[in-house]
Amino acid sequence: MRITNIIFSIMVLNIFSGCMGSQGIIEIAEEDCNSPVERGVVISFDDSQNIESWGQNQEFLKSHGVIVTFFIDRWHKLEQWELDILENLSDDGHEIGFHATNHGDYFEFLEQNLTEKDYLEIEIIPGLNHMDERGYNATSFAYPRGHRDTNLDVLLLEYFSVLRGTQSNKDGSESWVAECEDLRVFRSFPLITTEETEESLEYREKWTEFGFDSIETGNKTLLFNGHGIVNGQYATSLENLELLFSEIEKNNLKYLLMSDLGR
Ligand SMILES: [Zn+2]
Repeated sequence: MRITNIIFSIMVLNIFSGCMGSQGIIEIAEEDCNSPVERGVVISFDDSQNIESWGQNQEFLKSHGVIVTFFIDRWHKLEQWELDILENLSDDGHEIGFHATNHGDYFEFLEQNLTEKDYLEIEIIPGLNHMDERGYNATSFAYPRGHRDTNLDVLLLEYFSVLRGTQSNKDGSESWVAECEDLRVFRSFPLITTEETEESLEYREKWTEFGFDSIETGNKTLLFNGHGIVNGQYATSLENLELLFSEIEKNNLKYLLMSDLGR
């Protein structure tokens, strides 16, 4: 009750001083959160074309005690050796999430005057059935290219407990330095890849550091996403992953699965 009064006072003060500063907005948002995050980190890797690279580095992840989430598209095209790798990864405790039937880009649907319902019927339902036929029950979904909006979120949250975007499209989503799980839609920051330009490397290092600086105070969950490991598309090197893991260890962050958020 006292907290509510304090927050209300901040609001009133801000309104009457004509200065609704960001400080006030942040404090109100925190108090309004029904499900605050757990202190931890979610690392996910996307795209079925990178399955081989994940299999090659399964022991590397295991030796570091790292648990991640893999997002898989095109379930109907997976071969047995790819399914075997996924089964081994799943046995190690990693989560297998869904990443659309054909890796369809929602913004391309909208450009063709298709709707969120078309996306659901084409890019979600058939792929989910394929996934189910292969013995996986998806609870998390990652948007291809992070292309989403709140109309589609509402539809998809009927099928998944949590949705992951990328760093863009902030509207209706929780930050990749998340403090609250209420929306069940999260942004995620890209891991550094072996293909960075000097400029993009600087950008990603700066914001990765920002994420770890932010977590020094209070409960937050950091979300990072990559693609291939060493090989595959947009690969992340083992050196970079080791750097990341050591920061995670130093900050005493728990490894969370994507579906641990939004429960
Ligand atoms: Zn993808």
